[in-house]
Amino acid sequence: MNVMTQAVADEEVRATAPYKLACSETRRGGRSVVEVGGRKIGGEHFALIAGLCAIEEREQTLATAQTVKDAGGAFFRGGAYKPRTSPYSFQGLGEAGLRILAEAKAQTGLPIVTELMDVRDVEPVLEVADVIQIGARNMHNYALLSEVGRARCTVMIKRGLSSTLEELLLAAEYVLKEGNENVILCERGIRTFETAYRFTLDLAAVPVLQELSHLPVVVDPSHAAGRRELVEPLSLAAAAAGADGIMVEVHPTPDAAICDGRQALACDDLTRFAERIGQVAAIAGKRIGAAI
Ligand code: PEP
Ligand code: MN
Repeated sequence: MNVMTQAVADEEVRATAPYKLACSETRRGGRSVVEVGGRKIGGEHFALIAGLCAIEEREQTLATAQTVKDAGGAFFRGGAYKPRTSPYSFQGLGEAGLRILAEAKAQTGLPIVTELMDVRDVEPVLEVADVIQIGARNMHNYALLSEVGRARCTVMIKRGLSSTLEELLLAAEYVLKEGNENVILCERGIRTFETAYRFTLDLAAVPVLQELSHLPVVVDPSHAAGRRELVEPLSLAAAAAGADGIMVEVHPTPDAAICDGRQALACDDLTRFAERIGQVAAIAGKRIGAAI
C-alpha cells in the first residue's frame, strides 16, 4: 500500500472506530510517548512505578519513596483516597495523605501517581499528582473521566474488573475527547471463575491494546496476583509481552501493612526485582529509565 492509500485506509478505520482518538490510526501506527516530570512512558520507554498501596504514615512513606528511587523506579505511587470493598476498612488519609505525598516528591524528585475517586477532590489531588489514577472501580465513572480530561494532568486508567478492552478504550476516549492527550492504560487483572489468585492477569491485553491503540500500556501485577510470590513472575511476563511499564506495591514491612500487605513486595527486595524486570524489558526492546 502506498502512503496515500494507507492514509485513506487509516481514515476509514478512524471513521468507524468507536474510540476515534484512542485508536492506532490516529497516530498512523506511531506510539504515544507520555512524558511526566522528565520521565517517559511508551514507545521504547519502559517505566517502573512502585510504592505503597495506601499512605499510612509519614516516615514510612518517605522511606519507601527513597527505596523506590534507589532501586531506579521512575514514579512513586501511593493512595490517599482508597476504594475499599468494605465501608469499614481503612479509607485512606485523604488530604493528610496528599501532604505526605508532596513531601515524598520534594525529597526524592519522583513524580507521584495517586488515585482520584471523586470529582470533589480534584483540586487537592491535582496539587500533588503528576499522574492521576482512575481506579478499576471508577473506570465507568464518566463524569470523573471527563473531569480529568479537562484537567491537564496525565491520567492512568485501570481496566474495570469485568470490562472489555473496548470499554477501557472508550473510557480513555472520554479523557482524550476533552483535549487531554496524556493517557496511560493499565491492565490489572479481570474477574474470572478462577479462585487460586485474586484476579486473572490478562496479558494478551498488552499486545492487543497496543495493536488497537497508540496509548502506552502499563501492567499492575500486584492487584491481579493478590500474593507477593506471584508478583515477580507476572511482572517478568508483562515486560516480556512488551508492556510500557509495570506498577507494583511495596512496603517496608508488608505483613504489617493496613492494606494489601499480602501482595506487597518487601522494600528490601525491590532493587533485585527492578534489575530482573529491567533485563527482560530490554529483551522486549525497551529502554529502561534511570538505574534499572
Ligand atoms: C490501586 O492501584 O491502589 C487499586 C485500588 O487498584 P484497582 O483500582 O486496580 O483495584
Ligand atoms: Mn492496593
